[in-house]
Amino acid sequence: MAKAEAKTPPANEAHSHNFQAEVAKLLHLMVHSVYSDRDVFLRELISNSADALDKLRYEAIATPELISGDADLAITITPDKTAKTLTVADNGIGMNEAELIDNLGTIAKSGTHAFMEQAKTAKGDIHLIGQFGVGFYSSFMVAAKVEVISRKAGEAQAFLWASDGSGTFTVEPVAETQAPARGTRIVLHLKDDALEFLEDWKIEHVVRAYSDHIAHPIRLAAGPETTRQINEASAIWTRPKSEITPDQYKEFFGHITGAYADPALTIHYKAEGRHEYTVLLFVPGEKPFDLYDPERRGRQKLYVRRVFITNDAELLPAYLRFVRGVIDSEDMPLNISREMLQHNPQVAAIRKAVTNKVLAELKKCFEAEPEKAKTIWEIFGPVIKEGLYEDMERRDQLFEIVRFNTTRRDGVTLKDYVADLKANQTAIYYLTAEDEAKARMSPQLEGFRARGVEVLLLTDAVDSFWVRLALGFDGKPFKSVTQGAADLDLVPLEKEASKEDAADQGATATLIAVIKQALGDQVADVRKSQRLTDSPVCLVASDQALDRTLEKLLARQGTTDVKVSKPVLEINAGHALIQALAATAKERGACPELGEASSLLLDLARVMDGEQVTDPAKFAGCVCGLMQKAFGPVKA
Ligand code: ADP
Ligand code: MG
Repeated sequence: MAKAEAKTPPANEAHSHNFQAEVAKLLHLMVHSVYSDRDVFLRELISNSADALDKLRYEAIATPELISGDADLAITITPDKTAKTLTVADNGIGMNEAELIDNLGTIAKSGTHAFMEQAKTAKGDIHLIGQFGVGFYSSFMVAAKVEVISRKAGEAQAFLWASDGSGTFTVEPVAETQAPARGTRIVLHLKDDALEFLEDWKIEHVVRAYSDHIAHPIRLAAGPETTRQINEASAIWTRPKSEITPDQYKEFFGHITGAYADPALTIHYKAEGRHEYTVLLFVPGEKPFDLYDPERRGRQKLYVRRVFITNDAELLPAYLRFVRGVIDSEDMPLNISREMLQHNPQVAAIRKAVTNKVLAELKKCFEAEPEKAKTIWEIFGPVIKEGLYEDMERRDQLFEIVRFNTTRRDGVTLKDYVADLKANQTAIYYLTAEDEAKARMSPQLEGFRARGVEVLLLTDAVDSFWVRLALGFDGKPFKSVTQGAADLDLVPLEKEASKEDAADQGATATLIAVIKQALGDQVADVRKSQRLTDSPVCLVASDQALDRTLEKLLARQGTTDVKVSKPVLEINAGHALIQALAATAKERGACPELGEASSLLLDLARVMDGEQVTDPAKFAGCVCGLMQKAFGPVKA
């Protein structure tokens, strides 16, 4: 029935469509490209063909008729020097009319804008195009016109998509004889400056460099009837480690991630026992553009006995989403549906074992190779730390991996930290801040520095979250240096700090009472500080409140139900200014000058925390008044 219909080809109606605006912009960039690495287009077309073959093979598990006519799945490249065309064909899943319009006219994934910004500036970055889900469009770097003739597996009518890369494309039905029996044929009408891609050696070179380990044969049509296979076509993960070169790993890594750089870490092993499976995973050496995609999904590929099943099995937890690669099971049923995967106990067991293995490998690498650890941690550390509150079960495992910069050293582990506690130090101290420079300037650190107590500087947004939930490490609780009392009195000072005179204690108490009264409900409390040595004042959160950095973070994110709580104002009783104020308080009590001084102290503390003063006009007035007093009236 379907065949009969196709014998009388429908009238040649070409429908013209506009590219989605984002695609049009991207195409403009491709058409006018000056990229030196134009080879990339071939890798992208081959990668699309390989995906199409994988999809067909998967569909054919349930519907074997789909491949019954032609089970020899392959990619064929045909250069035609007379016509100046290069054709990349596959007998894969194919596309129908709607899919041609949708897949080759719009962009599904986000991030294209980011890619274009990059591509405009640095030439080499064209290599990254595959990562952004827009690889097909790279064919316009070398082709003045692109034709895509496709017949979806199991459907009768084939369609032709055509475009010259300027604003529009056409789609029309094509006659039976002009279309492949199944799958997609992409015909590139090469630009005059791209004719080198018609040379056999060039094609072979590019395929070897980028696509050797596509698990399907890639054939080069050498004459009308003769083709020869030009790639290895074996699934690389099935080969013994010792026979695989770093370049071959890199090529395969590039194929699955679209990345061009070397992977930072390669994990390749075969698990035997209750479940048998092979794992080939990579930690990228560069930051993927979608690392912080709100979906936060891993995209490790699940294969069953070399048959690609899905990218969506979530074989690793979200905090390891950057680890990419293949897991190939020997004993799972081939006909497992993607929906069933979520509840499959075998998948769960594999997920658990592979997660543990990845963490163990990261730990091993971090211990053995500090430089590499630094690179990996800089890019992926904030993501790995998400595991500290999402994966309680593995928190201790993660604590062995997590690295910190502290007031004293960079890249330390918690183990390093607790190995170097001061006498009587009972907690692991931390300071959360927006960035390290700001953190280091915090007055709250002074007392810790004076005692040689190391403080972790937590500057990633995730830090505020896990550190509140983590119970501690090695029996030591985590304690914020900007919250509650400092508990430092038992830790001896290493550096001389000016101290409060015993005789002044009464005066200090009076001053505290005066300031409390003057500031009223602007502060939760006013008290003597243990954490200051140089600055006169600082702000800390009260014990019950959230850490002040977290509070600010939530407020910025627009979380409306956090009420910014009142801070505690701490004063440095050893500071000359505070001592002078205390003497005044003792003599005159709550005078207007001390009222003004109290407001100024609060504002000072706010400014040191990177905040605004409460009332800028009043603040300016106060400071002017003080300066006038200091410099005296202008003499006539
Ligand atoms: P990506 O491959 O990352 O999805 P591309 O721009 O390379 O992005 O391809 C866009 C889409 O076009 C693919 O996802 C696929 O659905 C479709 N497509 C491209 N080439 C083929 C092909 N040879 N056979 C079937 N579908 C294809
Ligand atoms: Mg692609």
